[in-house]
Amino acid sequence: PFEVLVVGGGPAGAAAAVYTARKGFSTGIAAERFGGQVQDTMGIENFISVPYTEGPKLAAALETHVAEYDIDVMNLQRAEKLIPASDAGGYHEVVFANGASLKARSLILTTGARWRNLGVPGEAEYKNKGVAYCPHCDGPLFKGKRVAVIGGGNSGVEAAIDLANIVGHVTLIEFDTKLRADQVLVDKLASMKNVDIFTSAQTTEVEGDGEKVNALVYKDRNTGEERKIELEGVFVQIGLVPNSEWLKDSGLELTGRGEIVIDDKAATNLPGVFAAGDVTTVPYKQIIIAMGEGSKAALSAFDYLIRNEAP
Ligand code: FAD
Repeated sequence: PFEVLVVGGGPAGAAAAVYTARKGFSTGIAAERFGGQVQDTMGIENFISVPYTEGPKLAAALETHVAEYDIDVMNLQRAEKLIPASDAGGYHEVVFANGASLKARSLILTTGARWRNLGVPGEAEYKNKGVAYCPHCDGPLFKGKRVAVIGGGNSGVEAAIDLANIVGHVTLIEFDTKLRADQVLVDKLASMKNVDIFTSAQTTEVEGDGEKVNALVYKDRNTGEERKIELEGVFVQIGLVPNSEWLKDSGLELTGRGEIVIDDKAATNLPGVFAAGDVTTVPYKQIIIAMGEGSKAALSAFDYLIRNEAP
């Protein structure tokens, strides 16, 4: 058994493991895919103090940093079940897809999230070639260009407002008959000059020249007519789904959207179980935030372990 088991090997998990190992605690990391979402990212320009890097390079750097310490890295391990300790200071158990299980007195859950995809032709093909999911990350790459934002909830409308200040033109596409964002955001967006808003519009295809995106096709749901918009970028904003399905029925408190509820010390409702990064209720999902949260969760785990002796 470990003193600390980190589940998830993205920026949050790597940071957490380095911190607990540096406290001298026996630490394991079990991850389905070490590196997490960072592995799927092209250019990263907002990891402060590193003006430019690329996802696979940052993922390799996470791995190198973790390897500096006596941390047991178990890659390609998908957690399927959490069995919390029955008494304070006791061992929690995590059961994996291969049937194995690991025990630890403290857990740090960092299983991240995934962007919901549109599932239309061209989306996967042009990912990172015009199809983007994170306006904070990729907005500046489209400076002066034409983009669409798909999704008229708060995140879509916020993204459209953000992008309208950076890019040349924004088209917001919403499937429903009206935008679902807060009125103050809708009013702000409607007041911007370089924005078109289309409701009852179903995105049917992302088109490109083989290298990059050059158009978006949508169907007007009132008339059934298909229309094409020429543009260089498509931001998909139809939801970020936390990887927390495996935690249902464990007694861990999740929000209706499946985020792990944490307090300002990264503690969950279960004593000794901490969580960090995109899988949690932390506002704003970013690499630098996930790392900060992972470190915070680790320091909280340290605090927990020194106050609760093993039974
Ligand atoms: P993740 O990176 O999602 O890592 C989760 C880890 O948990 C992975 O190792 C995963 O395999 C593992 N896991 C999941 N489920 C299980 C399970 N059941 N059992 C075991 N392991 C599991 N942010 C920026 O700051 N700048 C950017 O430029 C940027 N660009 C992005 C571009 C793209 C295309 C995407 C998708 C995201 C981007 N982000 C960017 C967001 C950033 O990647 C995330 O905020 C960050 O990776 C979150 O870190 P995390 O450790 O919380 O989770």
